[in-house]
Amino acid sequence: METFTYYNPTKLIFGKDQVTQLPDQLPAGTKKVLLVYGGGSIKKNGVYDQVMDQLNKAEVQVHELSGVEPNPKLTTVYKGVEICKNEDIDFLLAVGGGSVIDCTKTIAAGAKYDGDAWDLVTRQGTPEDAIPFGTVLTLAATGSEMNAGSVITNWETNEKYGWGAPPFTNPKFSILDPANTASVPRNQTIYGIVDMMTHLFEQYFHTPTQSPVQDEMIEGVLRTIIDTAPKLLDDLESYEYRETILYAGTIALNGMLQMGYRGDWASHNIEHAVSAVYDIPHAGGLAILFPNWMKHNLKVRPERFAQLATNVFGVNAEGKSEQQVAEEGIEALRSFWTSLGAPETLRDYEITDEKFDVIVDRAMKRGPFGNFNKLEAEDVEKILELSK
Ligand code: NAP
Ligand code: FE
Repeated sequence: METFTYYNPTKLIFGKDQVTQLPDQLPAGTKKVLLVYGGGSIKKNGVYDQVMDQLNKAEVQVHELSGVEPNPKLTTVYKGVEICKNEDIDFLLAVGGGSVIDCTKTIAAGAKYDGDAWDLVTRQGTPEDAIPFGTVLTLAATGSEMNAGSVITNWETNEKYGWGAPPFTNPKFSILDPANTASVPRNQTIYGIVDMMTHLFEQYFHTPTQSPVQDEMIEGVLRTIIDTAPKLLDDLESYEYRETILYAGTIALNGMLQMGYRGDWASHNIEHAVSAVYDIPHAGGLAILFPNWMKHNLKVRPERFAQLATNVFGVNAEGKSEQQVAEEGIEALRSFWTSLGAPETLRDYEITDEKFDVIVDRAMKRGPFGNFNKLEAEDVEKILELSK
């Protein structure tokens, strides 16, 4: 393993009706809260009312920023920063999925940064402070509720980047009630499952070092998701299945499974470039790209792919070469995601090779990337070609 220091300051509050803990979690002396949310799902499913009841109990003044879009935009971050500065906001509360939480993180740091918030996202500036924030999560997917990452899109330049600056962009607390995810529609449920699985894969394919404990944990979480996902899609309102998937999504990307190595993250990087040019759902892009990243990188360390195939997808290795087993594992993943209803090719989003050059350019903006295997521009192009 590589050396590491692990610190996660987010208090995780999990279970039915746990939103009632909200007033006690606000820092002492909180007077003005900015409630950040998306396009209105929280008004339809009652989460907005639940949260407002608790904020009223806490006797804080509430300001609102609504309309955070899936793949949150820089322009919305600017709106939030302005409200924070004009209204002297002392706490932010994100209520929604990964997009709302990511947007809140950049607002929190941007409001205390003496410059353009985009500099933080492009890592040209470093935050030295942030307004504290908490979250009430409504969608199992990104893990943003318990990590420092934030992904923001600049539509003027077609750039989408992930950034983070712990501890400033770590939530103080996150409240996760599986019941609040029961209204997530089928397609978003599928995307969430693909996203959390890809987070696990991106960590599994890591820098070359041994990781027996982490392997067991990741393989176990993956097997559980693979077992639960079809049951949940047959019964979208099942509390039990929602609970399993919600917890899996958090554990998949709260740093617990990434101790002692660096995950690959190349597929996330390519996906961000694709959705910076075409506004497609994050995990829709991952479902298309990741199996092709696997095919492209199989020869780097075939034994890793073979291990995944046997331990997670139950591929029988008897009498087969490592390469064969590995290929069957990739096929098993592809069929699993297809069976859930995830997209398979860029054509599913009517994306042709017309703008591949722009996508490659955006993906390469920060230089070659990937920790399992460093990708150059021609590798990205090949993965896009395989994904057509
Ligand atoms: P999302 O973009 O936050 O939400 C997707 C859709 O689901 C929205 O239309 C939202 O509606 C709806 N929704 C959310 N909760 C709902 C509920 N309980 N009932 C009904 N509808 C609900 O989805 P996400 O997958 O969580 O976030 C995607 C973003 O996160 C992408 O930008 C991606 O790049 C980023 N990401 C971040 C990390 C990280 O570590 N920070 C990791 C991976 C990906 P409303 O707008 O009406 O709420
Ligand atoms: Fe993701």
